[in-house]
Amino acid sequence: MNEIAERHCELCRYFVAVDALNGTCHRFPPVFAGDSSPRENHHWRFPQVSIHAWCGEFQRPVQISSSGTTI
Ligand code: SF4
Repeated sequence: MNEIAERHCELCRYFVAVDALNGTCHRFPPVFAGDSSPRENHHWRFPQVSIHAWCGEFQRPVQISSSGTTI
């Protein structure tokens, strides 16, 4: 499998799962998501992404060895 094919949000260190197919990206701070809902206290959200998406900021999760060093 080539390197591009192995890039999915689901495999990225910045991905946080919401359900089986979707999650949020935490690479950057939340972005303004509009002010159309007056019931909400704030209108900032982390971007929602599919587990199959990816972007140029993709990074593999940090792996810690048994000795505590980063692999
Ligand atoms: S959008 Fe990019 S940085 Fe965010 S989880 Fe997906 S691959 Fe990672």
